[in-house]
Amino acid sequence: MLDILFSHSYYYPLDLKQWKNQTPYPPLGTIYAASLLREKGFTVDLFDTNLRDNPYEIEKEIIKKKPKFLVLYDDGFNYLTKMCLTTMRKAAFEMMRIGKSHECTIIVNSSDATDHHAKYLFNGADYIIKGEGELTLLELISALKNNQPIEKIKSLVYIKDEETITNPKREVLKNLDELPIPAWDLVDIDSYRKVWNNGGKEFTLNLATTRGCPFKCNWCAKPIYGNRYNTHSPEYIVKHIQYLQKKYKVERFWMCDDIFGLTPGWVQDFNLELKKQNVTLQYYIQSRVDLLLKEDTIDALAESGLQEVWVGAESGSQSILDAMDKGTKVEEIYNATTLLKEKNIRVAFFIQFGYLGETKSDISKTIKMIKELVPDDLGISVSYPLPGTKFYDKVKDDLRFKANWTDSDDLAMMFKSTYNSKYYKKLHRYVHKEYRKSQGLRFLKTTLKNPSKLSSIAVKRISYLLYYFPSAYIDAQILKRMEHINE
Ligand code: SF4
Repeated sequence: MLDILFSHSYYYPLDLKQWKNQTPYPPLGTIYAASLLREKGFTVDLFDTNLRDNPYEIEKEIIKKKPKFLVLYDDGFNYLTKMCLTTMRKAAFEMMRIGKSHECTIIVNSSDATDHHAKYLFNGADYIIKGEGELTLLELISALKNNQPIEKIKSLVYIKDEETITNPKREVLKNLDELPIPAWDLVDIDSYRKVWNNGGKEFTLNLATTRGCPFKCNWCAKPIYGNRYNTHSPEYIVKHIQYLQKKYKVERFWMCDDIFGLTPGWVQDFNLELKKQNVTLQYYIQSRVDLLLKEDTIDALAESGLQEVWVGAESGSQSILDAMDKGTKVEEIYNATTLLKEKNIRVAFFIQFGYLGETKSDISKTIKMIKELVPDDLGISVSYPLPGTKFYDKVKDDLRFKANWTDSDDLAMMFKSTYNSKYYKKLHRYVHKEYRKSQGLRFLKTTLKNPSKLSSIAVKRISYLLYYFPSAYIDAQILKRMEHINE
């Protein structure tokens, strides 16, 4: 009989936009917890839902392994789990129901359960762990196995005598290097590799060098690690990279931290440690433009193998960045993008439309910025109020019937913004077309200057102009008409 069957509630095939990318990442947060519990002497296994398309398959696994505890422990490093998508919530409830029918004790740790513990308790969870979960899980399972009291275990929510008990919050883990290397051996790495390779992409694994973010962008939910920020040492991370390179022959990594290398000097020390250990890699990160511009950060990133950085540009309008409490300047977006491109580091933007008070003129400034800077990739979304954020409090009286997106491509406006959902969906397509147009024109200009550098990508991008010019023009006309219609 197994002590703990770990699982989680994200299913790529149920999130079509993500599944189309064919770039799934193993559930890093889940295997961190599994590794710690195993190190402390419990028998553990993993039912990884990422590449599955329904929650029912877990039943066979439960029948076979007979776990005492079914732990749904979401990967808090995967930003998709923070979106609290209803499809994934339903899947979690189904797995809980199945676990319960086989007499498992059900423990859940996720952003959604942290924000909506009552829903999970109502649907059969025995215990909810709020926020960062490893230590609470270890204490809880040790106590339950030894029939000891659980009243003093921090960050735990449960029902006793028909009353919901919420224990005081636990401090986040300060010394992250205390944690063992995640239990990668429980993951079927080849099945991930196959999806990447079938999509024609180089297989990439995910690593986290930090937990949390100290910034206060007022729409950003941080239900797991909060506003505290802690970091692994460069030595731990380089050892982790060496382990993954040796065991799985992987050379490319997605550093899935909210903000990579925030501690002053960390990126430089990481670069030195890589050199000392003779490790080479390619990697990509998320960061902020203001941090990238600090001292020689971009030089150290380029030297250490950074290929691509995603920045939360959000808007080309300073008044919207200020309204979001983003703490960055439009000018910094321009400067960081220029410097990164000079170092041959790809730059990708997250853009957000529909923030409270955003006008037509703010939208035009964002489009202008995208067309002038032509990032290498673009992710567009609309403002999405998540519980626990200042933005949610601002719009909560105006929230419509629907409170969560179904999947990450939903993009429905949950509150009354300047325009309606249909407008923002059309705007999303229009901006992508304008972006592709700018990319095509850049390639055309470079090719005209230097015809010998014509690549197959350039030919493709230039030929697409024949589609994007008329199509973007038509979208612009439709958007003009839609500006006057609001729900
Ligand atoms: S910097 Fe990024 S992770 Fe931090 S609060 Fe802002 S959006 Fe959230």
